[in-house]
Amino acid sequence: MADYDYDVLVIGAGPGGYVAAIRAAQLGLKTACAEGRGTLGGTCLNVGCIPSKAMLHASEYFEAAAGGMMAKMGVMVEPRLDLDAMHGQRKDAVKGLTGGIEMLFRKNKVDWLKGYAKFTAADTVEVDGKSYRAKNIVVATGSSVTPLPGVEVDNDKGVIVDSTGALELAKVPGHMVVIGGGVIGLELGSVWRRLGAKVTCVEFLDQILPGMDGDVRKEANKIFKKQGIEFKLKTKVTKAEVKGRKAVLTLEPAAGGEAETLEADVVLVSIGRRPNTDGLALDKAGLTTNQRGQIETDHDFRTSVPGIWAIGDVVPGPMLAHKAEDEGIACAENIAGLTGIVNHDVIPSVVYTWPEIAGVGLSQEQAVEKAGGDKTAVKVGKFPMLGNSRAKTNHEPDGFVKVIADAKTDRVLGVWCIASVAGTMIAQAAQAMEFGATSEDIAYTCHAHPTHSEAIKEAAMAVTGKPIHI
Ligand code: FAD
Ligand code: NAD
Repeated sequence: MADYDYDVLVIGAGPGGYVAAIRAAQLGLKTACAEGRGTLGGTCLNVGCIPSKAMLHASEYFEAAAGGMMAKMGVMVEPRLDLDAMHGQRKDAVKGLTGGIEMLFRKNKVDWLKGYAKFTAADTVEVDGKSYRAKNIVVATGSSVTPLPGVEVDNDKGVIVDSTGALELAKVPGHMVVIGGGVIGLELGSVWRRLGAKVTCVEFLDQILPGMDGDVRKEANKIFKKQGIEFKLKTKVTKAEVKGRKAVLTLEPAAGGEAETLEADVVLVSIGRRPNTDGLALDKAGLTTNQRGQIETDHDFRTSVPGIWAIGDVVPGPMLAHKAEDEGIACAENIAGLTGIVNHDVIPSVVYTWPEIAGVGLSQEQAVEKAGGDKTAVKVGKFPMLGNSRAKTNHEPDGFVKVIADAKTDRVLGVWCIASVAGTMIAQAAQAMEFGATSEDIAYTCHAHPTHSEAIKEAAMAVTGKPIHI
């Protein structure tokens, strides 16, 4: 250790970086984590998962009261929106959780190097004018919003915003246009629709939520339409002009054709995110990025340069906090000489709308493709939430569970749910798949009654036989 300052120096304190730093310190390694943002926790805790869920949760309550659901259950209220208070509880959640990471750093003796790090050599970085040499450097710099040419984001003006701006709007927009029918567009579009905005979603492809199971995408589109979101599919935005407090967008069919204009009070640009590597001076370390700007690693999270590792949104794979966290743990364990593994085939994903949308493993389309296009190689069981006693009792009839299994071995290949608590339900599917479960294993596992999770059991029963309640 003689001439090294640290065994491990992590760059970035998001869910990938802060978890890697804590695990490395727990394993007895002298650890530092460089973070340029004023608070720890990265995108997820500061401007991503946590504040968006704070607004989704609060707006869900507002809609339950304002939209008649509470009245349906005999609870009579006349809600009034206090948007400042709603933002206040969002900020409190962020403050509490980011402060919690600072406490965990102190508890585990992780040094927080305040400032943006850049490489000066393969084993050395500079942070705020000081040089640090480390045996191992973990790049966990995350991602930022992908810009859309012709549509300039200005969160301060609050007319054309990205997800960070859309979390902080000072008033409910009359008309919000969301560019991109992905996770951010649907989550944040839902927040403002619930609070009273008219929401139009412009999506380049022929369907929303790319990457998800085809049935799920279709059903989700139907549900969001029923809730009042207007969709313009196969459409692209080519220009946006801000005129006073409004934006005028130019829309064109994705395949080319006649343009139309659309006026909006707020435009949310949510067409994806791209890895953060600018400013790292990767060349000084001998590192390069791939065509998508990502740092490539092997299965152990080692980059092409010995001693440099990379995890989270900056490496290939889904941009999800739990994927980054698991990679952080595995990477730190590998650095310590243990065996850290992440099963990238079993990473659940959840859209926290109402109802929630969740999936793990392969979609039906991917499963068939993997079987060389042979549709008979895959068995599917489906069960509607309408047949689930708890969902029905709670007035939550929308959605279904779909279990996809290998026709020969019955091994579960994927599970997809649209249900009020799909995000919680998907955990059992992930665990079953991690243990190599068959659909029969799930079908014969006793599930508590009455729970939404019984729909997973019934969908599994539908793979080879018949569910009971439909
Ligand atoms: P990040 O969280 O992006 O953290 C990287 C950190 O590195 C940042 O704090 C940055 O300041 C710092 N950094 C960058 N460069 C340097 C440098 N040179 N020196 C020092 N520090 C540096 N995922 C989910 O799983 N569930 C969700 O519900 C969810 N909701 C989301 C909602 C929104 C609105 C957004 C935008 C994202 C959401 N995500 C969600 C995605 C999730 O936030 C990311 O996948 C996750 O944060 C990635 O973690 P990370 O550690 O790789 O990077
Ligand atoms: P996304 O990739 O989920 O969706 C982007 C959408 O924009 C896609 O449907 C794409 O077809 C569309 N698009 C791309 N270019 C377009 C254009 N020019 N015009 C119209 N549509 C266009 O990206 P996002 O919603 O910005 O989210 C970014 C990342 O953050 C995602 O990878 C996601 O994993 C992560 N995230 C996760 C959660 C969650 O887990 N609940 C929540 C928010 C964000």
